[in-house]
Amino acid sequence: MSLPNASPSSAPLLDFARALDFAAHKHIDQRRKGVRAEPYVNHLSEVALLVAQATEGKDPVVVIAALLHDTLEDTDASYEEIEQLFGAEVVQVVAETTDDKRMSKAERKQHQIDAAPHASTRAKLVKLADKVSNLRSMAHSPPADWPLSRKVEYFEWAYAVVAGLRGVDARLEALFDRAYHDGLAELRGQAA
Ligand code: ZN
Repeated sequence: MSLPNASPSSAPLLDFARALDFAAHKHIDQRRKGVRAEPYVNHLSEVALLVAQATEGKDPVVVIAALLHDTLEDTDASYEEIEQLFGAEVVQVVAETTDDKRMSKAERKQHQIDAAPHASTRAKLVKLADKVSNLRSMAHSPPADWPLSRKVEYFEWAYAVVAGLRGVDARLEALFDRAYHDGLAELRGQAA
């Protein structure tokens, strides 16, 4: 069967625009959980930019997967829908960056730490960029009702996940380390 499935290489700019539009619509009613309640799409564009920079714009699959990385977890998008629209390579990366909601929250957190070293290179890049974006958000626009201890705990958990992702891109890892150290300093400053 030769459906005209999107192959992210024939027209990468078209695929990029389709993925951005798809993600923006799927997340249309969602906001980030920080005090600024940023539109969710800001998180997606940040993660996509980080992986695009890490791969010097040479891997459309990883950038498109970055735009879509939270659609399976947080919207009504299905695996089949993403596979149909964006191809098998993209949906595999998206699936790798999706938590299994049948697990408890604590199990999911531990699973992220355990699964990180076994992820594909593309999934490692997206997961790493996701953590950079999340720590930046946590520092600049933390959830209003989180005490400092809970924010610090989140930073430590992200650090533990990233330990299993290292080795894919030194610059992105350096950006994570900066987000971690600067973010913790900022949070402690806010609390002082
Ligand atoms: Zn995310």
